[in-house]
Amino acid sequence: MLRLPVFGSAAPTTISELVAQLSKPGARLVAGGTDLLPNLKHGLEAPSTLVSTDRVESLREVSWHEDKAELHVGASVTLSDIASDKKIVAQFPSFAQAAGLVASPLIRNMATIGGNINLDTRCRYVNQSEFWRSSIGGCLKAAGDVCHVVPKGRSCVAAMSSDCVPALISLGAELLQSGRKANAESLWLITTITKAPSTRSEKTASSPQSSSCQYRTSQVAQVTPSGAYEKASISRF
Ligand SMILES: Cc1cc2nc3c(=O)[nH]c(=O)nc-3n(C[C@H](O)[C@H](O)[C@H](O)COP(=O)(O)OP(=O)(O)OC[C@H]3O[C@@H](n4cnc5c(N)ncnc54)[C@H](O)[C@@H]3O)c2cc1C
Ligand code: SF4
Repeated sequence: MLRLPVFGSAAPTTISELVAQLSKPGARLVAGGTDLLPNLKHGLEAPSTLVSTDRVESLREVSWHEDKAELHVGASVTLSDIASDKKIVAQFPSFAQAAGLVASPLIRNMATIGGNINLDTRCRYVNQSEFWRSSIGGCLKAAGDVCHVVPKGRSCVAAMSSDCVPALISLGAELLQSGRKANAESLWLITTITKAPSTRSEKTASSPQSSSCQYRTSQVAQVTPSGAYEKASISRF
């Protein structure tokens, strides 16, 4: 049986407490835990503390702003809720469809959009037990110096496996982040999508493709020293 390592835990109820907890050394965010906890059991990470987003009510909200034709989706909204939200289904069907096709109903009931956007890359040579990995000498991503997918490669080519990210990129979504220090893990608060029918048309028929693309966020507003929000857009490399 694979066991979780020892770690501390915190479950703040406000965003400012969450950001403060996150700025502690070795702290790591956990939302639904469907990606992070298996990785901990596999010995891929060893955080000192897991800081849960679960008790921050404001991160669970989906709101539609009619005046700006803008949708705000809190980072802790589950993929099940996104897939069944009437406004999202009507206004951004590709996003609802992508969320509704992730994994299985049980996982979608736990998994959040914040976690899906921040999903770690996966690879059959690394998402295994520590014992299994040690038998092949690790790899560039985990305690080794070779890539088993591209044996002469110098960097990891593990694929991003989020199904929601390609839909969000195609919709020009923006992410609102908060974090106190440049080197602290950022907390992603809200995904904003604006309906712009003149520049964008959505087809309901096509299924979202599993993506192998990497993505980045680009900062479009400065974070203040007090830890105020910054905005980022999400786009392909
Ligand atoms: C069997 C299985 C099948 C799967 N199949 C698919 C699939 O078909 N398509 C697909 O897209 N995904 C798939 N996944 C991955 C799944 O979508 C993710 O596990 C899930 O979306 C992660 O969400 P979570 O809330 O559980 O995140 P967690 O596991 O809690 O966190 C994941 C990562 O995000 C970080 N994080 C969480 N919330 C935030 C936040 N608000 N701000 C910043 N960082 C944050 C965490 O620190 C961690 O690094 C599958 C997973 C499993 C176990
Ligand atoms: S370094 Fe290579 S083998 Fe290791 S996770 Fe990345 S792609 Fe997979």
